[in-house]
Parts: sequence; C-alpha cells; structure tokens
Amino acid sequence: MYKVTLIPGDGIGPEVAAAMVKVVEATGVDIEWEKVDAGAGVIDEYGTPLPEHVIDAIKRNKIAIKGPVTTPVGKGFKSVNVTLRQTLDLYVNLRPVKSFKGIKSRYEDIDLVIVRENTEGLYSGIEHKIGDYGAETIKIITKPACERICEFAFNYAKDNNRKKVTGVHKANIMKLSDGLFLNTFRNIASKYPDIQSDDLIVDAACMNLVINPEKYDVMVMPNLYGDIVSDLCSGLVGGLGMIPGANIGKDYAVFEAVHGSAPDIAGKNIANPTAIIQSSVMMLRYLGEQEAASKIENALVKVFEKGENLTGDLGGNATTDEFTNEILKYI
Ligand code: NAD
Repeated sequence: MYKVTLIPGDGIGPEVAAAMVKVVEATGVDIEWEKVDAGAGVIDEYGTPLPEHVIDAIKRNKIAIKGPVTTPVGKGFKSVNVTLRQTLDLYVNLRPVKSFKGIKSRYEDIDLVIVRENTEGLYSGIEHKIGDYGAETIKIITKPACERICEFAFNYAKDNNRKKVTGVHKANIMKLSDGLFLNTFRNIASKYPDIQSDDLIVDAACMNLVINPEKYDVMVMPNLYGDIVSDLCSGLVGGLGMIPGANIGKDYAVFEAVHGSAPDIAGKNIANPTAIIQSSVMMLRYLGEQEAASKIENALVKVFEKGENLTGDLGGNATTDEFTNEILKYI
C-alpha cells in the first residue's frame, strides 16, 4: 500500500482532485490518501497558506498530488506552489504535451516534453520597491541549478528514447544570467553525443512551436519561460485542461496539473479533470505501477476517440462527473 499526500487546492481543485481519486482507485492500486489543505482558505486557522503540517505530510509520504491553489495577483501572500517547490527543492517541472486522437486542435501529432527549471530564475522571490518610482525583481541563475536541470533533460531523453533536447533562453539580452544557462546547456549536451541538441531564443521558440511544433522533442528552459511555453503548448493539444505536470526533486515529488484554479468555472461541475488525471498517471509510473498507469491512459484514449461525454472546453457539454464516469467505464 502507498501513502500519498493529497492537496485538493481551491477553485476547481477539489472537483478535479475528486475525479482523479475515483479514477486511480478504479485501477485497484492500493493508495491511502492523506488529505491536507493549503491556500487562502487555511490562513485564518494557521496564519499561513502553507502550514507546516502540509510540508511535513509531503516529507513523510515523499509523494503528493495537488490541485491548483489560487495566488492573489499583484498583492498578498507568496504563491503556495512556488514556496512548495523551493522548500522541498523540487527542481524539475516536467510537463509532457501530447495530442489525443479525437481532441480538436490545430495539430494532431504533438509529442513533446517541457522541462522547466523550478527553483530560481525570476521566481526567486527577491523583489523590492524603489520608492514610488519603480520596482525591481531580481533574476537568479546559478551554475549548479543549470547543470542539474540540463542533466535531467538529457537523462530523461536517454531513458525515454527521445532524440533531441532543445535549450531555450534569452542570452542575446540577458548575456550573463541566460548566458550562463546557455553555456551550461551546451557543456552538458557535449556529454550526451547520442542525443541531438540545439538551442533557441525564447521568442523564436514560441513562434516555431506555433508553426512547426513537430520539430521539437524535449525542451529545457529557465523557470518563467517554462511556465509560459508550457501554457502555449497546452493550446496546441486542446487547452489547459489537458496537460499534466510533475515537480520532482531528489527526495520528493509533487504531481499537479499545469492549469490554475479557474475561478471562472469553479463550483459548477464543468471543469475538465484530464490534466490532474494525467498527472496521476505520471505519479503511478513514478511509483512503478505501470499497469495501473496504462489502464488510465488507455481509458483516456478510448474516451477521446469516442468523443462522447466530453467537458465544455473540449467541445462537449458533459459535467465533470459524467466525463469521469465515462473514463471509469473503460477502466
Ligand atoms: P487558469 O489556468 O486557472 O485558467 C485559465 C483559463 O483556462 C480559464 O478560462 C479557465 O476556465 C480555463 N481552464 C483552466 N483549467 C481548466 C480545466 N481543468 N477545465 C476547463 N477549463 C480550464 O489560469 P488563471 O485564471 O490565470 O489563474 C487562476 C489562479 O490560479 C491564479 O490565482 C493563479 O495564480 C493560480 N494558478 C495556480 C497554479 C497551481 O496551483 N499550480 C497554476 C497556475 C495558476
């Protein structure tokens, strides 16, 4: 039996997390979920959106899966997601982007993986005001962090039979910080002669991804670019409701959808739970439960091929529950 920390999150988080739990349990894998809450809803009780017992629960179980947590925009507390990633040193944010037959989008055969550096860059949290005149946000790029994320990307490519790794940067403008990322990428690439590599400036990468996404395989990049480029890529395969993610460190892993708490559709039972369900597939594979992972993946393939009972973002009009039941039918 596995013990997994479950953080449902807020907004559509509890709805999609409940769907994911049903789907995982239907595979027969024995998981005890240790449910803990984080976010604005726990501040009154604990004085913080990320109480110590939540961190302790992840440390104890070593594996967690979470729904999205709302972060106030332009004010308020530091993002729970960023704090978790930094506190647990979850230095990799792995986001596979793959087309499903039956899901309408501009492309049909997308199969690429974004590897986002997850602990530094513009997410270092070092910001200050300069009187009323301006503000500064400091971008930190360190050699050890560049090395470990680039090494992860090349090892991932090697272990998953991928052919090419592309380093994405803006070293033409940020010659020192992104220059360090790019030089480190090239050094690491030279140690993997069997894997092709190239590099690309982030703005050109965005244009190329929209025009020729099939040219890309594994892409590794600093934190903010990874955030933006993975949302862009979600648009190539049916939107934010589809893309899973994993935050991985040396000691712990936290699986979560790429999307946010979607306040515009929260509480209506219409959210698409595919992203967190696909995150649970990544979690099951991480745990070595390949059969259970494949059961869910195959069920998703069949549901999308058939095209019935899809949620609104995918062109259907089913509720989250109806869509989940459709998956359960095939499991
Ligand atoms: P969002 O991803 O929540 O929503 C963007 C758009 O995509 C919305 O129109 C939403 O309805 C749609 N969408 C997202 N997920 C969907 C799903 N599963 N099914 C159907 N439609 C879906 O982005 P946002 O509105 O910019 O952010 C809302 C909040 O979420 C912010 O507070 C942000 O900080 C937070 N956020 C959290 C995480 C996380 O917890 N990992 C990630 C991103 C954003």
